[in-house]
Amino acid sequence: MDFMKVPFVDLKAQSSLIGVEVNEAIQKVIESTAFILGPDVKRFEEHFAAFCETDYAIGVDSGTSAIELILRAFEIGPGDEVIAPANTFVATVLPITYVGATPVLVEMDPKTYNIDVNRIEEKITPKTRAIMPVHLYGQPVDMDPIVSIAKKHNLLVIEDACQAHGAYYKGKRAGSMSDAAAFSFYPAKNLGCYGDGGMAITPHAAINEKIRKLRDYGQEKKYHHVELGYNRRLDTIQAAVLDVKLKYLDQWNDGRRAAAGRYLKQLSGSRYILPEVLADVTPVWHLFVIQTDRRDELQKYLGERGISTGIHYPIPIHLQKSYQHLGYAEGDFPLTEKADGRMLSLPMYAELTEEMTDHVVNSLLSFS
Ligand SMILES: *Cc1c(COP(=O)(O)O)cnc(C)c1O
Repeated sequence: MDFMKVPFVDLKAQSSLIGVEVNEAIQKVIESTAFILGPDVKRFEEHFAAFCETDYAIGVDSGTSAIELILRAFEIGPGDEVIAPANTFVATVLPITYVGATPVLVEMDPKTYNIDVNRIEEKITPKTRAIMPVHLYGQPVDMDPIVSIAKKHNLLVIEDACQAHGAYYKGKRAGSMSDAAAFSFYPAKNLGCYGDGGMAITPHAAINEKIRKLRDYGQEKKYHHVELGYNRRLDTIQAAVLDVKLKYLDQWNDGRRAAAGRYLKQLSGSRYILPEVLADVTPVWHLFVIQTDRRDELQKYLGERGISTGIHYPIPIHLQKSYQHLGYAEGDFPLTEKADGRMLSLPMYAELTEEMTDHVVNSLLSFS
């Protein structure tokens, strides 16, 4: 078959499966009129902390807010440096800027697309406060070396787990291996809500308390404001939706792994560069990214055959207009720059059928 519609993501398949359950959950919130925080947010926080195998989870209004409130809770600010990958979504580094600290970027590992753990230590200065690995595309970063570098230099580790809900590294859940981690529930993430949402998780009781205050006007109890806080709460209706969806997350991640397994098997030995998975890691394939020289032509060709694809990301952080003030230049991260011109994200979601992945693979193999 030459044409078959294969969307890049398909949120409809999922929402029809759980539609009735989600509608009931939303209706319950409406009837309770407990629209701000309340029992639904609390319940989802408890379930999400248990899912991540950590102690505390604090619902916030986005993944970006989760990172920012974590940084504020640790009092990272002006004069401080935070180490982050050059190959990531801009929302990893924006919160570092918001708090007045400086992002210090690191080249990627061309095999995994994640931060190159061997290039972190050379970036540490007396100003460094934290390392922020990103489990990009759903594959956990090699955390053991990062944790030991952090220990040696007395630094915090903050995971950006916004693309890695449910992934495992050596038997540990993404987000559970550091001082704090951020998750996003943007609709297209592995666990997405029906709007914006996010979560901060941490094993530290004091940081849990502080983020709880920061997201809620800095109050310790009603009208007693002990911090200059914000309004960054997770919306209660979104929490109710997420609590329904969380039960299915491992199963949906299995579906993504099955689809990724087919891509890897059927494309092995082809001319495309495929993502490499570290030993001892269970990725959740938020994205399935291949590399090829004629990326733009290929994207057009696939489009003509009904296949939608994405590019994550076309411009690295250090070459973004908004980040010119950091003083980086073209050529500073050659591997990241080269990959950004060659990467293509294939359709990826739990409901991809074999027929669909076959069509994607056949189209990739017939492109000449
Ligand atoms: C989605 C995402 C974020 C930001 O999450 P929002 O909920 O959109 O604010 C941060 N980092 C990474 C790597 C992401 O993919």
